[in-house]
Amino acid sequence: MNHGIIQTIDVKKYFHIGKQQVVKSVDGISIEIYEGETFGLVGESGSGKSTLGKTIVGLTNPTEGTVVYQGNNVKDLSKKEQHRINRETQIIFQDPQASLNPRMQVGDIIAEGIDAHGLAKGKQRKERIHSLLERVGMNPDVVKRYPHEFSGGQRQRIGIARTLAVQPKFIVADEPISALDVSIQAQVLNLLNDLKGLENLTYLFIAHDLSMVKHISDRIGVMYLGNMMELANSQELFNEPTHPYTQALLSAVPLPDPTISRRDRIVLKGDPPSPISPPSGCKFRTRCPHAMEICSHKNPEWKEVKPGHWTACHLYAN
Ligand code: SF4
Repeated sequence: MNHGIIQTIDVKKYFHIGKQQVVKSVDGISIEIYEGETFGLVGESGSGKSTLGKTIVGLTNPTEGTVVYQGNNVKDLSKKEQHRINRETQIIFQDPQASLNPRMQVGDIIAEGIDAHGLAKGKQRKERIHSLLERVGMNPDVVKRYPHEFSGGQRQRIGIARTLAVQPKFIVADEPISALDVSIQAQVLNLLNDLKGLENLTYLFIAHDLSMVKHISDRIGVMYLGNMMELANSQELFNEPTHPYTQALLSAVPLPDPTISRRDRIVLKGDPPSPISPPSGCKFRTRCPHAMEICSHKNPEWKEVKPGHWTACHLYAN
């Protein structure tokens, strides 16, 4: 297995609402993402997955805990080193419409990072923009056009070209295909997958749906109300999910051939509780079909149930 490129150690991100209320958006997450892998991160809205992604790339500071990049605590590094890490760790957002400046031409949008980090000038800069557009499957002739002249899928390609322009090593892809038409989701997913190999990238791929990350992820983490519930190799998570929440999510994923085998659908009770007042003990207990007395007052330990397969559930206490 490759070395960890990113590690979070007990990372928490809390938001204060007024004087009394606190949303524990990320509530103590420790994960390591290995160089060259795609780590899928899944959870319903409000699970904290996007906040975790933004905290990892430094768009927001953790309330507590540590983010480690290539073995170094990011907070302890010099300004110059942090500037390098800001370049090497990038994020692709869900909504390409909102993330591209409508008043800028495509060429200038792509060159923003090149200019900010002084990576190329003049002819080299122009050549780099052209080659980036080609790499994401766009005609370089579009440099003088504006974002509104493109479809959602093309705008996401331009966003990806802008991200690649600064030669990143690690990319958080925050639901990059959710806002796109189903017909072009696969194209953008394939593009991201191809680029990963070509550019030696590592991804944290965030999605609300397990089926979206299944085929592209090496490992998958499942979040619920700010906590990690389960983490395993992608295949193992699909074949042998241990956590009742993962089991419920998987039961809703359609099987490719329903005649081969059938998963019984587990219907979860109610909506996720408010992150402002999450349940005591196991946060999933109000919707869990296996909840026991202990679940209401004791937070389950994060336990390795098989090599590399972690789960947080009292069913696996021994
Ligand atoms: Fe369900 Fe209890 Fe396990 Fe939580 S700890 S998932 S409530 S069985």
